[in-house]
Amino acid sequence: MLRGLMMDEPLLISSILKHASQNHADTEIVSRTVEGPIHRYTYADCALRARKLAQALSRLGVREGERIGTLAWNGYRHLELYYAVSGMGAVIHTINPRLFLEQIVYIIGHAEDQYICFDINLLPLVEKLAPQCPAVRGWIAMTDAAHQPQTTLKNLLVLDPLIEAESGDYSWPRLDELTASGLCYTSGTTGNPKGVLYHHRSTLLLSLSASATDAIGLSARDVVMPAVPMFHVNAWAIPYMAPMNGAKLVMPGSRLDAESLYELLESEKVTVTAGVPTVWLSLLDYLKKNGRRLSTLKRVVVGGSACPPAMIKEFEHYGVLAQHAWGMTEMSPLGSFNALKPRHLAMSTEDRFKAQQNQGRALFGIEMKITDGAQKDLPQDGKAFGDLLVHGLWVTKGYFKDEASTPIRDGWFVTGDVATIDPDGFMTITDRSKDVIKSGGEWISSIDLENIAIAHPEISEAAVIGANHPKWGERPLLIAVKKQGATVTAEALLSFYKEKVAPWWIPDEVVFVTELPHTATGKLLKTKLREIYRTHLWTSSTS
Ligand code: AMP
Repeated sequence: MLRGLMMDEPLLISSILKHASQNHADTEIVSRTVEGPIHRYTYADCALRARKLAQALSRLGVREGERIGTLAWNGYRHLELYYAVSGMGAVIHTINPRLFLEQIVYIIGHAEDQYICFDINLLPLVEKLAPQCPAVRGWIAMTDAAHQPQTTLKNLLVLDPLIEAESGDYSWPRLDELTASGLCYTSGTTGNPKGVLYHHRSTLLLSLSASATDAIGLSARDVVMPAVPMFHVNAWAIPYMAPMNGAKLVMPGSRLDAESLYELLESEKVTVTAGVPTVWLSLLDYLKKNGRRLSTLKRVVVGGSACPPAMIKEFEHYGVLAQHAWGMTEMSPLGSFNALKPRHLAMSTEDRFKAQQNQGRALFGIEMKITDGAQKDLPQDGKAFGDLLVHGLWVTKGYFKDEASTPIRDGWFVTGDVATIDPDGFMTITDRSKDVIKSGGEWISSIDLENIAIAHPEISEAAVIGANHPKWGERPLLIAVKKQGATVTAEALLSFYKEKVAPWWIPDEVVFVTELPHTATGKLLKTKLREIYRTHLWTSSTS
C-alpha cells in the first residue's frame, strides 16, 4: 500500500470550539436562563469557560472515559459542558429529566456517572435521585454563587465558582478520534433504556455532513435556535454545527411554549430552528390566534416523529420552509433530510407539498435499504415497503455494555421502522415495525391513517392501533382527540377516509378521548393504547 502524505489530524470535538473562537470570536450565544434573565456572550467567551471547566473537572478527579451526567435544558452552561467534558476525553451523558424517576436511576447507575450537573429548576428531581444514586461523587448546580440552591443535598458543588477558580491556560488533549465523547439512552417504550456511545469521529462527520446545503445547512449568516432539547440526541447536533459554521446560537432554556419561543424567534432574528412536531403545532396555533408574523425565520427542521402534512403548508403561509428530517438515537441522530430535487420544483403546488412530506434522502455518510420478512432486499421503487436498515459513519455498532441486544443484521442496524424508498432515494416511513397493522396477511400503515385523521379540521391528535379481530387478526382502531368545541361524529370522521385510502384500510371504529399518552420525548405511547384497546374490536365485533 502506498500511504498518502497528508497530515494525520484526528477528528476531535475540541477543534470545533477552537475554530469558532478563532474565526467567529464575537458571534453570540444567547440563552434564556432558568434563573430568569437572557444571558449573552460570545464563542470566544464560551471557549475560555470551557477550558476552565475542563481544568476544574480534572481538579475534581475526572479521568478520561469517565461519564459526567447532565440534567439540563438548552443553555450556555450546558454547551460548555458538551465541549469541556468531551474535549478532555471524558464522556458527556445527557439525561432526559422527563423520564420516570426509576428510569433515570437505572440510567445513572448503568452509565456509572461520576458527577451530575443540573439546572437549578431541576433541584426537586435531583433531591429525589441523590439517595438512590449513592455512587455519584457530586451534584453540580449549573449556576453562580448567588443562586446556590438551598438544599440538604450532600456533595453539592456550584459550577460558576469552580470555573472562575481556574486560569483557562489549558490545551485540549490530542485524543484518538475513536475516543467515546457522548452517551445517550434511547427512551424505548419497553424494557430498560439502551445507551448509545458516540465517538469524536462520528460526531464530527455527522456535523460536517449535516452542514451541507441539502441538510440542516448552517452558515455564519444564520441564527439558529434548537427547540429540540440538548438531552434529545444532542439537539440533533446543532450545538456542534453552529460553532463549526459560525452561526449565532439561541438557546431557549426550559421554556418551549409557543409564546416564549416566538419572543426569541423575533427578538434574536432567528433564521433556522428545529424541533418536534408538537412544538410547531402549538407555535402555529399561537401565530394564528394572535395574528402574528415570522419576520426573519426562513427554515424549520421538523423531526423526532412524523411531520403532519398540513404543517408544511401552514409554515409556507408564513414564508417558512418546513423540512422533514428523520433519525434516531442510534444514529446520532440524523439519517435523512428532505431537500427537493429540480424536478420537484416543476411540479404543481399540491404535488410538491406531497414530495416534501416524506422523510427525505440519506445524508452523505449513511446508507439505507429495506428488506422483506425473509430478510431479502426490496426494490427502491417507492412502492415496496419493508424493514428499514441503516449503515454508516455515525450509526451504532452496539449498545453500551449491552452489545448482544443490539439489532444488527449483517453489519446493518435494523431501525424498527418500516419504510419505502423511491428511485431518487427519498424514504417514507410507513410505520414502526411493532405498530404496523397486520390485517388478513396484508400490512396497513398506522401513520398514514393518523395523518388523515389529523388533517380533519376538527381533530387535534390521533393514534391508530391494530386491535385484535376474530376474522382479520388485526384491524385498525382510531383513537382521536377532538379540537375544543368540535362536534364531529365517529361516522363523519370515518367517511373522511373515503377516496383517501383503500376501503379495507379504513379504521373499523373510532374512540374519542380527551388526551393520548406520550413518551418522555413526546412520541405517542402506543404500547399503552394497545394495552387498553387491544380487545376493543373483539368485544364490539362479537357482540
Ligand atoms: P429516538 O431515538 O427517540 O429519536 O426515536 C427514533 C424514532 O423516532 C425513529 O426510529 C422513528 O420511528 C421516529 N422518528 C424520528 N423522526 C421521524 C420522522 N421524521 N418521521 C417519522 N418518525 C420519526
